[in-house]
Amino acid sequence: MRKIKNYTRPKSIEEAYEIYKKGRSIFLAGGTFIGSKRNIKLENLIDLQETKLNYIQEKDDSIHIGAMTTISDIVDAKTVASSFSGILNKAARRLASPAIRNISTIGGNIMSGVPWSDITPVLLSIDAELLLFDGETHRVKIDNFFGDSKFSNMLLLEIIIKRWGRGSYRRFSRTEVDIPQVVCALTQHNKVRAAAGAIWKFPQRIRGLETVLEKGKVSDNEVRDIVDKEVKAFSDLRGEAEFKKEIASALFIDIVEELGTIRHG
Ligand SMILES: Cc1cc2nc3c(=O)[nH]c(=O)nc-3n(C[C@H](O)[C@H](O)[C@H](O)COP(=O)(O)OP(=O)(O)OC[C@H]3O[C@@H](n4cnc5c(N)ncnc54)[C@H](O)[C@@H]3O)c2cc1C
Repeated sequence: MRKIKNYTRPKSIEEAYEIYKKGRSIFLAGGTFIGSKRNIKLENLIDLQETKLNYIQEKDDSIHIGAMTTISDIVDAKTVASSFSGILNKAARRLASPAIRNISTIGGNIMSGVPWSDITPVLLSIDAELLLFDGETHRVKIDNFFGDSKFSNMLLLEIIIKRWGRGSYRRFSRTEVDIPQVVCALTQHNKVRAAAGAIWKFPQRIRGLETVLEKGKVSDNEVRDIVDKEVKAFSDLRGEAEFKKEIASALFIDIVEELGTIRHG
């Protein structure tokens, strides 16, 4: 049953957070996740539409994406394409259907904490930073964000990514529009980042793969060994943990082949 006492549309982040602090409150972005909840009892539903968090801006070597930016806007953003071969645009393009992409926001995708996100493993692989607000502003590396409950009661303002590097991303799902069973992303700049998502509660870095690739190339057997030993996976309706790990190995092998970092023989 849904019971919501007050619907508000604050005009600033300060006003939004003041209402949130009163308790039994929730922020509303695109509403695609909140709308799927059957049991909600709330004092305040705080619509973020008028908080001016819908923007994509370039500043020096960074790109700042407001939390209320829709997934569709990211698909089409040329600026975002200058970051790590545009893997964030590519991941956004693969998220669900156009109807969902037109209303889902990047902030809602991150803050909903859904394990099957297409977006969060890619953000992890590009060392994104998050700007969060709880009366004060906090700039947090995304690697330190996942699994830390102190951030779940903050308002996400923006996502900061860099305009450099190259990278590649793969996702595996039953059909084109299904939520992913496995997401893998790998990037290179002055360091290597490998991340997997949709197979564990949180997206995870594959540090063994990063270490090997920072020294040179990797063979497909090494990729399989690293994924087998290091990747955490759970079984659910979409597949057994072991199956997902095998898929993750195959996706990473495909990516390192594409980036020219595979060692044959
Ligand atoms: C049919 C369907 C298929 C989907 N398929 C995929 C898929 O394949 N891949 C994928 O990645 N996603 C997919 N999604 C989208 C994903 O599951 C979420 O529904 C979506 O990303 C949430 O975004 P939203 O803007 O609608 O957030 P909302 O539903 O408005 O909010 C989600 C949560 O985040 C909180 N929140 C929102 N914005 C902020 C903020 N700025 N600061 C703090 N908290 C905030 C809300 O309070 C709420 O708890 C799918 C959704 C649907 C409905």
